[in-house]
Amino acid sequence: MAPIARLAMAVLLFSATFINAAPTATTVDNDAHIAGFSRAVSQAAPGVKLVYKCTVPNTMAITFDDGPFEYTADLVKLFNKKKAKATFFINGSNNGKITDYAAAVKQAYLDGHQIASHTWDHGDLATMNAEQITAEMTKLDVAIKKIIGVSPTYMRPPYGSINDLVTKTIGAKYTIGGGGDVDDYKKSLKVYTDKVKKANGKPGEIVLQHETIKLTAQELAPRAIDYAQKMGWKLVTVGECLGKSKDTWYRK
Ligand SMILES: [Zn+2]
Repeated sequence: MAPIARLAMAVLLFSATFINAAPTATTVDNDAHIAGFSRAVSQAAPGVKLVYKCTVPNTMAITFDDGPFEYTADLVKLFNKKKAKATFFINGSNNGKITDYAAAVKQAYLDGHQIASHTWDHGDLATMNAEQITAEMTKLDVAIKKIIGVSPTYMRPPYGSINDLVTKTIGAKYTIGGGGDVDDYKKSLKVYTDKVKKANGKPGEIVLQHETIKLTAQELAPRAIDYAQKMGWKLVTVGECLGKSKDTWYRK
């Protein structure tokens, strides 16, 4: 997607969280809709896990989409230094090729950050048939397993875009994550801090940023960590913020 279109989408997602957008379909899960899923999301079928909020008190999950990329290794070091954990929803072939950043992905995993799936090549799952959806997931699972020895059980759909076929096809196998977009395309620390403040005292946020944006990786991320910690949040992985033990974040 062209940068300007991505910016527009981020703004749209963010606005939706504050204007409390009306449901666009009778079966829409409005909480999910305003929390990072860009299409109407039907009420999840039994067994399908849609997550977009932390459940463990005082925890927040800062997450990065669209990598791995040239900033991944430094982000891992940054989070380590700040005694914080991050979750990386990575692609196989997007801004970078996963094989080119295998060392950074492995280091992130070894240091206790969570590696999760953002599909092989960042296609819109809601436009695909079941076979294509499965291929997007499986191809990346295999590539990640080659690097860290296990494959992820958490995924975030590109563009927050899912439909009933997506949840039916992969919902039993993956926890499907949303998360509030903090609009990092505008490198807006204020947007982030407002969101953190708004969430303070409530179950924490799962915050979405893009590690492929230099300003996010180098300027927003360090300030975001400092600010959240100053406000009393414990920065953990998505799995931890949901109270799930590490052995459930991956499968062999
Ligand atoms: Zn993405």
